[in-house]
Amino acid sequence: MTSRPAPGPEDPTVLAVRAEGASAEGGRPEAPTLRSAARARSERPRPVDASRARRGVARPLAEWATPPRILVTNDDGIDSRGLAALARALDALGDVYVIAPETNQSTVGHLKTMLRPLRIRERRLADGRRGWAIDGSPTDAVSAAFLGYFGHGFDLVASGVNYGNNLGDDMTYSGTVSAAMEAVINGCPAFAISQALNGDVDFDLAERAAVVVARGILERGLDDGELLNVNVPSVPVEACGGIEITRLGQRVYQDELVERIDPRGLPYYWIGGQPPTGVAARGTDFSAVEAGRISVTPIHLDLTARGLLRRLREWDLDLAGGRADG
Ligand code: MN
Repeated sequence: MTSRPAPGPEDPTVLAVRAEGASAEGGRPEAPTLRSAARARSERPRPVDASRARRGVARPLAEWATPPRILVTNDDGIDSRGLAALARALDALGDVYVIAPETNQSTVGHLKTMLRPLRIRERRLADGRRGWAIDGSPTDAVSAAFLGYFGHGFDLVASGVNYGNNLGDDMTYSGTVSAAMEAVINGCPAFAISQALNGDVDFDLAERAAVVVARGILERGLDDGELLNVNVPSVPVEACGGIEITRLGQRVYQDELVERIDPRGLPYYWIGGQPPTGVAARGTDFSAVEAGRISVTPIHLDLTARGLLRRLREWDLDLAGGRADG
């Protein structure tokens, strides 16, 4: 993490908790008291107002008064080389903070932990850089950041680089993408980035894509509800066919329910089977990655089915039809 000077009192993103317990080097506050934490919650500015990478506010990086604050997270866990690669790449654009799950949380989706406490511990990433590990989900990591853990808001959240692509229907399972969704829910622009696996993973191309996409978001901005889902093919930088703007494609899952018997004679189950494939229809994320191009898919959190909205009105749904004698 690059250290930055402690923001002045005019900074609207500074929380009350920082004033009481901030460490001198601009890291997170040391052990805030319950009183200060409660006050931070009540005085926390709406994060929606804090980000400078929203459309209408975004501007060329050279015109930013202070460097963008970039939160980096993932779902593969704090020890992932992909996480370190993403943080390293984005150092070029702003002040990078890393908070990620302590363990691999792939396919946890948008899980938010509310029925047990969460621990956050300072850790070293794969490349020695400082970060924080949370014993929860990717969404928990992003939530902690936006609920005041670092004492300030963020301008951009980047999630990845995930080991394995998140294409088409994978969006609904992906912890990587869910972390970006959590940022968007908190009013902060975000992107997820995932790398196709093929033997030894090399993040050179993913790092380059991350910088291009991050710069695009910081300079052009995203609107409410929008995020970007980036997928990188498993090819060297010089063999990559460029960046393609895509729509979500369709996954073909090959899951199987595998039954085993435990030492007490009782059955238990694995969801197993071959890795999923996908339909590489033209214009989709699948087709771009298959052709050796980087796929960038615009995503919106409004999941309303527009076509069904109109058809559904013609159903004449009426509670009277739900009577037992009806
Ligand atoms: Mn993962």
